[in-house]
Amino acid sequence: MKIGFIGLGNMGAPMAANLAAAGHDVSGFDVAGTTAKGVSSATSAVEVADGADIVIAMLPNGDILRAVAAEVIPTMRAGTTFIDCSTVDVDSARAVADMAEAAGILCVDAPVSGGIGGAAGGTLTFMAGGSEAAFASAAPLFDIMGQKAVHCGDAGAGQAAKICNNMILGATMIATCEAFALADKLGLERQKMFDVVSTSSGFSWSMNTYCPAPGVGPTSPADNGYTPGFAAELMLKDLGLSQQAAAAVDADTPMGQRALELYRQFVEDEDGKGKDFSAMLPRFETRGRS
Ligand code: NAD
Repeated sequence: MKIGFIGLGNMGAPMAANLAAAGHDVSGFDVAGTTAKGVSSATSAVEVADGADIVIAMLPNGDILRAVAAEVIPTMRAGTTFIDCSTVDVDSARAVADMAEAAGILCVDAPVSGGIGGAAGGTLTFMAGGSEAAFASAAPLFDIMGQKAVHCGDAGAGQAAKICNNMILGATMIATCEAFALADKLGLERQKMFDVVSTSSGFSWSMNTYCPAPGVGPTSPADNGYTPGFAAELMLKDLGLSQQAAAAVDADTPMGQRALELYRQFVEDEDGKGKDFSAMLPRFETRGRS
């Protein structure tokens, strides 16, 4: 298959390389001039889209996605597919889907979870929104770049699933970190705290799989000085998208809102930028109630 890949950043470059390694003819473009192994470099987004059977975007945000889609969709042949794997707002995903539909192009919003390791290892999870036909055309590529793809519903459903998942993740990580900091002050050993909570009703992915306490539980960014992993600023971005969506549909999401405020403070006013999102634990450790 002839594939055009737009956005060869931390995630896009290894994803494109995996498609090329699987035998596809992949051409890539990034405004920063980055490249990917086995991928031929183009000089514009339009050039990668020209003659492609599938165009994939992996970009920073919804505004950039909309601009890129407006550029490339008119270049694409009817019946081909546009897949957006970026994490963006639901409205942008739906706007791009409308643009594609009007041009006779299949469209899937397919944000991912699994991070840079998952992108490199081809073990991402895709959460997809779009028609059955669009999902079917994208599925063989999801199989190469990932280990699981869930068709969540119509256009925008993939982004909805992603931001709801990450809203839970942000809130549970904060809850896990503040509980560890409280346990410290109560004189409870961290290992004992893990042994109890990881097998009791307070368990979660944040505690059991990605424990924010160094030396406790499976190896996680906490064991590597809180080097991301999943950076606090990316969590802040996803929490912002979830609150934007909640405001648009009048959903009451107080825990998500509080998680957004805490990650904003951590990233913008404290020293959280560039640290893993689990570095909320050392933040809480040093604080009192005021
Ligand atoms: P990144 O910043 O490393 O990559 C984005 C790339 O897009 C950059 O290389 C940039 O130069 C390029 N770009 C920007 N504007 C462009 C344009 N107009 N045309 C072509 N290229 C353009 O970010 P990333 O970590 O690869 O993340 C990409 C997306 O995946 C984001 O939406 C992010 O939220 C999401 N995501 C990231 C992770 C992660 O762990 N990094 C995990 C899940 C989802």
